[in-house]
Amino acid sequence: MENVLLSVSDLSIHRGKEEAVRSSSFSVYEGSITALVGESGSGKSMTALAIAGLLPSGFTASGSIIFDGRELLSCDVDMSSIRGRGITLMLQDAAEALNPVYRIGQQIRTVLKINGLECTDDSVRKLLSDAGIAEAFNEYPHELSGGMRQRALAAFALAPAPRLLIADEITSSLDDENAHMIMRLIMGMAEERKSSVLMITHDLSLASQYASRIAVMHGGQTVEEGDASAVVDFPKHPYTELLLRSSEFARDCSGKLFSIPGRMPLPREEVSGCSFASRCPYSEDGCFKEISLKSSGNHIWRCIRG
Ligand code: SF4
Repeated sequence: MENVLLSVSDLSIHRGKEEAVRSSSFSVYEGSITALVGESGSGKSMTALAIAGLLPSGFTASGSIIFDGRELLSCDVDMSSIRGRGITLMLQDAAEALNPVYRIGQQIRTVLKINGLECTDDSVRKLLSDAGIAEAFNEYPHELSGGMRQRALAAFALAPAPRLLIADEITSSLDDENAHMIMRLIMGMAEERKSSVLMITHDLSLASQYASRIAVMHGGQTVEEGDASAVVDFPKHPYTELLLRSSEFARDCSGKLFSIPGRMPLPREEVSGCSFASRCPYSEDGCFKEISLKSSGNHIWRCIRG
């Protein structure tokens, strides 16, 4: 049995009466790649920020986030000591994450130094070479192409050899070929550094190609979690079924993608019962009451069906 590196249980994230995440739970196993999947507004990115201890001002988290045996929501945990060697967060906007006034090599050296790692020219060049951008050592961020900046971000995020890399929608602005290129790069670099990965994406087909486990979020709540093959081949939750129909897997011969009808509940809207009820083709009276979890082995879902 694999060890659990990260266990998120009953996580809720509030700002006043707004509820961005509602009682969400999933796990990341040591050495594995887990995908957190859902449409925009499902609560994936707020979950990532809560794990990294970087929630925007005004938001508070309750429930439990246990990382490497430590409760991160406990007030005596100093998250600055966990970010870096423990957890790093790679965001989609490379231009925002890189400092425009320092050369790439210099910025990588600083990351290595802050984390107490060897920060010689050779170690910086090795990291850039692993990311396929050895030539970027003396360049400023604005001198790099979009693809090279994305590779530089991967080098930054994996420089400390973190126990957990959270990669938040890092392929959303890339075409299909570049998305797979950056995913393969990250998987290779993470494996070499023995880092586990939590990939956050709206694209279930991409998730199924790289992750061994998938957790699906809707309306701020995880609605299904299981081995990637079980979730994709035998989805239990109607939202997962429709996400599959709307993914690249299901592009029809005219090239059109199916679009899921309706919309996600907003954080300020009160949800009673299933958050998917207003969009679900199988909705019935019982769906508007509290929905308990069902499971089969390590496959878990939140629906009255199945
Ligand atoms: S609980 Fe009801 S509304 Fe929700 S996904 Fe299941 S069948 Fe659909």
